[in-house]
Amino acid sequence: MDLKQNLENRLGTTLAQADNTAIYYALLGLTKDACNDKEANSGDKKIYYISAEFLIGKLLSNNLINLGLYEEVKNVLAEAGKSLSDIEEVEPEPSLGNGGLGRLAACFMDSIATLGLNGAGIGLNYHYGLFQQVFENNKQKEVKNPWIEKESWLVNTGIHFTVQYKDFALNSTLYDIDVPGYESGINKLHLFDVDTLDESLVQDGISFDKHDIAKNLTLFLYPDDSDKAGELLRIYQQYFMVSNGAQLILKEMDEKGYDVRKMYDHVVIQINDTHPSMVIPEMIRLLMERGVDFDEAADIVSKTCAYTNHTILAEALEKWPISYLEEVVPQLMPIIRKLDEKVKAKYSDSRVVIIDGENRVHMAHMDIHYGFSVNGVAALHTDILKESELKPFYDIYPDKFNNKTNGITFRRWLMHCNPMLSDYITELIGDGWKKDATELENLLKFQDNEDVLKKMLSIKDENKKILKKYLKDTQNVDIADDSIFDIQIKRLHEYKRQQMNALYLIYKYKEIKAGRLPEKPITMIFGAKAAPAYILAKDIIHLILCMQQLIENDPQVNPYLKVVMVENYNVTKASKLIPACDISEQISLASKEASGTGNMKFMLNGAVTLGTMDGANVEIHDLVGKDNIFIFGKSSDEVIKLYETSGYVSRKFYDDDEVIKSLVDFIISPELMQIGDPTNLGRLYKELINKDWFMTLLDIKEYIDVKEKMMAAYTDRMAWAKMMLVNTAKAGFFSSDRTIAEYNNDIWKLK
Ligand SMILES: *Cc1c(COP(=O)(O)O)cnc(C)c1O
Repeated sequence: MDLKQNLENRLGTTLAQADNTAIYYALLGLTKDACNDKEANSGDKKIYYISAEFLIGKLLSNNLINLGLYEEVKNVLAEAGKSLSDIEEVEPEPSLGNGGLGRLAACFMDSIATLGLNGAGIGLNYHYGLFQQVFENNKQKEVKNPWIEKESWLVNTGIHFTVQYKDFALNSTLYDIDVPGYESGINKLHLFDVDTLDESLVQDGISFDKHDIAKNLTLFLYPDDSDKAGELLRIYQQYFMVSNGAQLILKEMDEKGYDVRKMYDHVVIQINDTHPSMVIPEMIRLLMERGVDFDEAADIVSKTCAYTNHTILAEALEKWPISYLEEVVPQLMPIIRKLDEKVKAKYSDSRVVIIDGENRVHMAHMDIHYGFSVNGVAALHTDILKESELKPFYDIYPDKFNNKTNGITFRRWLMHCNPMLSDYITELIGDGWKKDATELENLLKFQDNEDVLKKMLSIKDENKKILKKYLKDTQNVDIADDSIFDIQIKRLHEYKRQQMNALYLIYKYKEIKAGRLPEKPITMIFGAKAAPAYILAKDIIHLILCMQQLIENDPQVNPYLKVVMVENYNVTKASKLIPACDISEQISLASKEASGTGNMKFMLNGAVTLGTMDGANVEIHDLVGKDNIFIFGKSSDEVIKLYETSGYVSRKFYDDDEVIKSLVDFIISPELMQIGDPTNLGRLYKELINKDWFMTLLDIKEYIDVKEKMMAAYTDRMAWAKMMLVNTAKAGFFSSDRTIAEYNNDIWKLK
C-alpha cells in the first residue's frame, strides 16, 4: 500500500482535509507499525544502558529519518498542502532528562541501534518529567510537564515485576519505546512505571506529598531532595529502576537459556552516573536467591557492570546515609556491608571505602570496586579523574580506567535540525558522512572556495531568519537577523558561568551607554533551567531577565544589543537555536565541565566556539587548531591549584580592578533594583564579592577581551566563513557513532 493511502486509511479522510493534530497521530501510528515491521538487533551478548535520564526529545521526525521514510512523508504531506514541521509542533516533548547526561543517553540509544548492536535502555517513566519552566516577574517558576497522551510512543508490554521495599511492595509495568537505528535494526528503551501512580497528587506547581510512595514514585525526575522525605523518595525511585532492570535482565537470560553464572558472557550493564549504582547489590541479591554464594555473585556482577563518571563536582557524587537505605531497602544493606568489608580487608586507605566513618555509602566507590570499567567522558576529564579526583582508585585499578569522549547523533543534530546545511554538505561531498562522519573532513578542500563559503554564510543567514520568526511566534520578541547571534544554552549552574556572560552583558550595555557602539548589533540568547532548590542559579536567571527588560526598554541601547532568555530550554528549542548560532558560549571554569555536548552540536552546525580549555573544548581546540576557536581563561591545572591552596579571593579582584568593580556593582544599581527583586540581586552581588566559588572574576577580564576580538573577527565575513567550514569539517570525531564504537570495542565487546 502506498504511503498516502496508508495515512488516509488511518485518518478516515483525505490528507488535505485532515488537521495537523489528526495527521500527527496517523503518523505516530504509521511510524510505530514501521518499527514493528523491522527486525530487532540481536546477538548473544547485550548491552543494558541504565540511566535515570533519557532526554529523548520529540521522536517523530528522527524516527522517520532513521526508518528511511522522512523524505517520502514530507513529500506526500507537501502535495496535500501540509508541512511536516508544522505537524511536529503537535508532538509533546517528554522532559525525561535534565541536561547533557540525559541527552547523551538518548544519543547513545540512537547510535547503539544504528551500529546494529544488541542493546536496550532502562529507565523510569516519569509522568511529569523534570518540570516545565515558565517566567513570571523575571523569575523562574516550575510547573509540571505532562507528556503522556492516550496515544504516544509508549507501548505497554504487559510485563510486570514486584519491587519489595521495607514495609510494602510495588508492582511495576514495563513500557517500551522503539529506537530505530539509522538504516539499521530496532532496539528498545524500557521505561518502568508503578501501577498505583496518582497524578492528582500534584496540585500547584510541582509540589506533592512526598510520603505516599505508591502514588508519587514516577511523577517527577529528580524530585526536590532538600528534605529527608525527598532524599528517601530518590532512593525509592533508584531502587525501583534497578530492581526492575535486574529482574528484566534475568528474565531475558532465562528465556535464552543462558547460565546466570556466565552472565558476563551475555550481559553488560553500563551504569550511567551513580543513580543506578544499586543495581550492583541488587543483582548480587537476586543471584543469591538463585543459589549462587555471595563471593561468586559479587564476582559475576563485577565482570558484568561498568561505570561512567560524569562529574567531579563533589556534591553530585551520591552518598546515602546507611539509615536511609535501611529504611527503604534493608535487604541490600547486608550485601553492601559485605562488599565494604572486602574492600577494607584489602585496602587500608580510608579514601577508597564504600561505607565511610559517618555511616554513608559512597555509590561511586561501590561502582569502581565492583565494576570492570570506569570511564570519564572527555580526555581532560578522564585525566583529572586519574590524577586527582579518583587517584587512589586509579592507583589500585589502573587498567579499569579509560576515556570515552562524548558524542552526539548527527541524525538529530545536523540532518534533522539543519536540513539546508545537511543537504549542501551532501551536494559537496556525497552522503557517505551520514554513516561515517569522518568524511566531513572532505569539506576542507573547499575552505578557500569563495562560492562555497558564501553559500555557508547564506545558509546561516537563512537559519537566523527561521529562528527570528520562531522567537517572534513563541515569545513575541523581535530580534535583528543581521546581528551576531551569541548563544549560551545549557543547565543553569555556577560552574557553567552564565553569570560571567551576564557581566559581559552589563559591560556591553555600559559601553553603548557611553557611546562606544559595536560595529555589528549583538543578540545574546540564553536558555537554562535552574534546579528548583538552587537559589543562586535562580538569582542568575533573575539578573539575565532583568537585563533583558532594561535593555529592551532603552532606545539608546536596543538597536545595538538585545537579550533573549528562551523559556523552557529543551531539545526542541536546542534544535531551533543551534543552526542559527554564530558564537557558541562554552565558558565553564576549567576542570569543571566534564565534557559538554552542546559545544559539539554548535561546532557541527558551523558556530565558532568561545571557550575555556575545559571538557571536550580541549579536543575541539586540538581538532580545529587555535585559529578556528577563541580560547581564554585560566587552565585546569591553575584552577585545581587555586582550590588546593585556597588561593582565589574574589574580593581582591573586585577591589583591585575598576572595571570589574563597576560591572559587579551594576547588579545592585538603581536601574536594576527598580526592575528586579533586591533580595535576589543583592544576594548574587554579595556572592560574587565574598565567595564566587567558580571564579567568575578570575577570568572575566580575559573573557571580555577575547569576546571583543571575536566580534571584530566576525566582520571579516570570508575569514569567518572559513572558520565555520573548518568547524563543521572537523566535527566528525564527535559523532556518537564513534563514541559507541569505542564503548563496544573497549568495554562491551559485543559481536
Ligand atoms: C545538548 C543539550 C544539553 C547539554 O548542553 P551542555 O552545553 O553540554 O551542557 C542540555 N540540554 C539540552 C536540551 C541539550 O540538547
